[in-house]
Amino acid sequence: MNILVINSGSSSIKYQLIDMPSEIVKASGLIERIGESISKITYKKSEEKITAELPIENHEKGLSEMNRFLMHAEFGVINNINEIHAVGHRVVHGGKDFSGTVEITDEIKEKIKSLSVLAPLHNPNNLIGIEVAEKIFPKAKQLGVFDTAFFQEMPEKAFRYAIPNSFFVEHDIRVYGFHGTSHKFVCEQAISFLSEHKWPSRKLITIHLGNGCSITAIKDGIALDHSLGFGPSNGLIMGTRSGDIDQSVIFYLIDQLGYSPQEVNNVIQKQSGMFGLTGYYDLRDIQEKAKSGDKHCQLALDMNAYRIKKFIGAYASVLNGVDAIVFTAGIGENSSIIRQMVCQEMQYLGIKLNTAKNENLQNGISDISSDDAKVKILVIPTNEELEIAKQSYGLLSE
Ligand code: AMP
Repeated sequence: MNILVINSGSSSIKYQLIDMPSEIVKASGLIERIGESISKITYKKSEEKITAELPIENHEKGLSEMNRFLMHAEFGVINNINEIHAVGHRVVHGGKDFSGTVEITDEIKEKIKSLSVLAPLHNPNNLIGIEVAEKIFPKAKQLGVFDTAFFQEMPEKAFRYAIPNSFFVEHDIRVYGFHGTSHKFVCEQAISFLSEHKWPSRKLITIHLGNGCSITAIKDGIALDHSLGFGPSNGLIMGTRSGDIDQSVIFYLIDQLGYSPQEVNNVIQKQSGMFGLTGYYDLRDIQEKAKSGDKHCQLALDMNAYRIKKFIGAYASVLNGVDAIVFTAGIGENSSIIRQMVCQEMQYLGIKLNTAKNENLQNGISDISSDDAKVKILVIPTNEELEIAKQSYGLLSE
């Protein structure tokens, strides 16, 4: 069964055509700068990569251009659009209503729309992707996979904020969590890897370190706690987001320094994190600068690793122990420096890194823990698209 996975943003669409259940990626790519005078489409089939620059005025044109590639006589992978059996859509916010994958209906679209207040940068664009795909692939089943769904089984003591009950009851103010598709994917990968290696896999801490960063405590495959909350700026230090910050700072900025709420939001979401501390967006640059003696960059790395360590300690308590920690996403998969800094001086928990293995990852899943460690340290490449395809296929096979 061919499942087209779509991640629709404001000016871009990421796509993958995946054959299920074989999990073979037939084609993948990216449509960028939608709405600008010159847009770009990338199409990849096996090792072949084609890019084209052309005006793509809207998402509908974008998906039509993608179709031209998918059905191209020379490098296409399907003969007609009816060979796309289902479209799996990434939807960032499912609120408290969605704990699993659903087939899209008018009612579901209304729900996604109404949840836009909680994810104004994402849900409206996800919805555009759905509506355009319905038009372009009228025969395909449309399915929604929610980033928040993995956290819906979290216990109430973990997802509630200690503010008056009415805010929860009347306004649904609570922890929702983000990156759930990634945490779920690496969790399942870890469980099967650990089981194959006869290692316990009940208590996991998954650490997603990309532009956005989050950490999850997982017991028996169920998320028990998570560092992102009502919005995506809590917890770990991220590319441009502050992570945990005392709310008094916000009021100080407003009351004493004259910032508007929008300006404060902009500071916390877009000008903070590693960028705010160093002036650089990409961790590779920060690592390079730190190496050549830049104190701000070194401090930012220290703060970043320190924050992750604190969460690992907290989540080891939540789980009453830990069988494995998992690093994933752009930084988690690629930065041996961050992994090394996080795992340093964690022997009390049984976390001990094998430095050589940390520097030389295997293809696929790498176990980078030392032989005498009590906790496995795994690096697992995340694959949110495959997770969406798996969940879509799972629902359609029921
Ligand atoms: P993601 O959001 O998962 O795509 O992660 C993007 C981030 O991963 C980028 O901002 C980089 O900081 C980081 N990254 C990617 N490759 C590397 C690398 N080789 N070393 C360190 N950081 C990396």
